[in-house]
Amino acid sequence: MTKKIAVLAGDGIGTEIMTEALKILDVLNVDMDLGLTFENGLIGGAAYDVHKTPFPQETIDLVKAADAVLLGAVGGKKWESLDIALRPEKGLLGLRSELELFSNLRPALLYPQLAAASTLKPEVISGLDLMIVRELTGGIYFGEPRGIKTLENGERQGFNTLVYTESEIRRIGHSAFKIAQKRNKRLCSVDKANVLECTELWREVMEEVAKEYPDVELSHLYVDNASMQLVRAPKQFDVMVTTNMFGDILSDTAAMLTGSLGMLPSASLDINGKGMYEPIHGSAPDIAGLGIANPLATILSVALMLRYTFNNEMAASRIETAVNDALDQGIRTADIYSEGMTKVSTSEMGNAVVAALK
Ligand code: NAD
Repeated sequence: MTKKIAVLAGDGIGTEIMTEALKILDVLNVDMDLGLTFENGLIGGAAYDVHKTPFPQETIDLVKAADAVLLGAVGGKKWESLDIALRPEKGLLGLRSELELFSNLRPALLYPQLAAASTLKPEVISGLDLMIVRELTGGIYFGEPRGIKTLENGERQGFNTLVYTESEIRRIGHSAFKIAQKRNKRLCSVDKANVLECTELWREVMEEVAKEYPDVELSHLYVDNASMQLVRAPKQFDVMVTTNMFGDILSDTAAMLTGSLGMLPSASLDINGKGMYEPIHGSAPDIAGLGIANPLATILSVALMLRYTFNNEMAASRIETAVNDALDQGIRTADIYSEGMTKVSTSEMGNAVVAALK
């Protein structure tokens, strides 16, 4: 049976890095008989230029019909002065809500060859391989009431609401436990149950969900301790699951542990495991068109897609091993270059991974 991938390259370096990711998929598609088909669509500024909206109906139809979405990046100076509803980033938010992508996976994996890029000591960081699962469609970023009002005494007051229903917590819990089952079977749930009732409920529900996954070891941490542990001893973690806002903050910390934006993939999944896969970095307008962007985050996003949507661990591992092999050969794009290595362009890096795959 064929599986359709919606390919949304987006803006800036999006087209350059996507070309390399598709090279890898083309090879595996033939080699492993994956049965993947591809259809291109517009999103972000590129979509605005044609349709006057960052998320046109054609793209909505495309992503809904697809089994998975592969995205480059959106945004750029050209569109910054547009009304907020028309800006490229709105296309991404539209995509997440249209597909109900509530589970955001942000791995932080440090390739030993790049340990020097981290600001942490090599012994603290080398071998790091953790996954943060962030709830993406609920919590304080969406809770009502919200706003800024003027009190009777004339002072203004800003307010937001942290809300989670049991079912929202349960579904992100199931998503995180299933991911832990595919990894080292340890899950740490992060909350602030000592202060926030909403996350007291979070902890209770996580405990309930845990009963269905006896093979996974569940632990809990308060978010302040979790952020401290992430920089003190990050290798203690396998999978972490947390709320939208805590995940937003902790996943950026985890990303920077590795020191290299161009290396980190991400996934956002719906309840059935359908997903949108993208690098965590943006459209890098400062280097767009120069052919020097690092395509590895996008290539590694393809590996996540094969693992989490298509359940093809072998194909996913082949990509990750090929990336590792290319790094072992000393091949580096400018962002991860260090003395003595071979500096290559975006397409040369893609070619190196293809060669390692074969
Ligand atoms: P950015 O991630 O695009 O770039 C930050 C820095 O990292 C830049 O110096 C850039 O050159 C470098 N960089 C990023 N990716 C790289 C890669 N693959 N290889 C080599 N270097 C890389 O963040 P920014 O500059 O804050 O934002 C630029 C635009 O991207 C903005 O319009 C922003 O809104 C948008 N953005 C989009 C996404 C997304 O599409 N998911 C995420 C973040 C930012």
